[in-house]
Amino acid sequence: MPYVHDTLERLKRTSPAQTEFYQAAEEVLDSLRLLLDKDPHYHDHSIIERIVEPERQIMFRVCWQDDSGKVRVNKGYRIQFNSSLGPYKGGLRFHPSVNAGIIKFLGFEQIFKNALTGLPIGGGKGGSDFDPKGKSDREIMRFCQAFMNELYRHIGPTTDVPAGDIGVGGREIGYLFGQYKRLTGRYEGVLTGKGLNWGGSLGRKEATGYGAVYFAQNMLAARGDTLDGKSCLVSGAGNVAIYTIEKLYQLGARPVTCSDSQGSIHDPSGIQLDTLKLLKEVKRTSLREYVEHHPDATYIDAQDYPSDGHAVWRIPGELAFPSATQNEVTEADAEAMLANGVRAISEGSNMASTAGAVDRFLEARIDYGPGKAANAGGVATSQLEMAQNSSMQQWSLEKVDEKLQSIMADIYQRCADTAKEFGQPHNLVLGANIAGFRKVADAMIEQGV
Ligand code: GLU
Repeated sequence: MPYVHDTLERLKRTSPAQTEFYQAAEEVLDSLRLLLDKDPHYHDHSIIERIVEPERQIMFRVCWQDDSGKVRVNKGYRIQFNSSLGPYKGGLRFHPSVNAGIIKFLGFEQIFKNALTGLPIGGGKGGSDFDPKGKSDREIMRFCQAFMNELYRHIGPTTDVPAGDIGVGGREIGYLFGQYKRLTGRYEGVLTGKGLNWGGSLGRKEATGYGAVYFAQNMLAARGDTLDGKSCLVSGAGNVAIYTIEKLYQLGARPVTCSDSQGSIHDPSGIQLDTLKLLKEVKRTSLREYVEHHPDATYIDAQDYPSDGHAVWRIPGELAFPSATQNEVTEADAEAMLANGVRAISEGSNMASTAGAVDRFLEARIDYGPGKAANAGGVATSQLEMAQNSSMQQWSLEKVDEKLQSIMADIYQRCADTAKEFGQPHNLVLGANIAGFRKVADAMIEQGV
């Protein structure tokens, strides 16, 4: 397939430092080879070449004052990658690792994820290299306001609707929304993940984690299995991990791990959700403190992790829910997981596994739900928030959760059916990439050049 090869080569040449973007693009384009053989008309419309180019990338300076009065400078980004299915939609990430390549990979993944939800949303992403860790509440507020001072001119409820991601939760969305309103004088659903009193949707905070568990439930059900009684490995201690753990308990499973940037907790009797919420949602402190509350649990300092991976994936368990960040599951981790009996993986984080790890999972033919399918419940519920905002309604939690469950079941089915159509029924990576791509590509063709 020379044009897939040519496109990959061009990306390597023109974006040499954007390794995560290149990794994401290579995975998608590799999956498309079978489709492109069957449907050469995508080639006639140069869809491959077009889909890897963002429609627009905005980079800006963010100047803000810290508590000592010093002026600080950060980089701000918003990528408006593809609008063929609807307004750009995707989160904002505030983390020191953020750069143009990270935002580009996240935006690219978002296009296919959003397409898989079956909802009318295009793909976008944004963020900053600002590090929220150790910042006071006032500093967070001033940064968010400074970020919005530029972002506001590029977004709108029918053009581009940002939300949260790593480092951006309810508090940050509040500060960003307040500033948007002050600058524009408009009260509209321009951000999702808003507070429940002022336009937010019930169930949005929980949606990514709950959705990743529903996705696992669907994968297991296809084999006649359930979550009941399963021991589960979860990484992360943010919004995604916390609500993955909550839903796992509700469905009878036993989550035994979680982690933050400094270390991991292994609690064989099951992670204590109240303690986790207290440490991370209320006190915003390190997981290290967990063992003071539960002395039977073990804390593994990040300095003591295996050199080729992460401590959580070396602990025995039956199911895995990576919920921290990209490439958090290495090939060595994947081998350890397979040796320890892990039989299903549902990714709460975006591109959680390295290419080598994905290959191991697919070769072993275990259930592997890639992030762009398994974690789509968050953005899907964001779209439900947009629908509530534009109709001036607030739906009940039951209604939102019912919709989320059926959206996750549909995503699973779409991926599984597409994988089957292309002769690899176990391969949900292939299924997700082809199903997402086909929807976007057909819309692009129908909308002309
Ligand atoms: N950041 C989340 C994601 O990766 C949510 C995006 C949204 O709700 O717009 O999908």
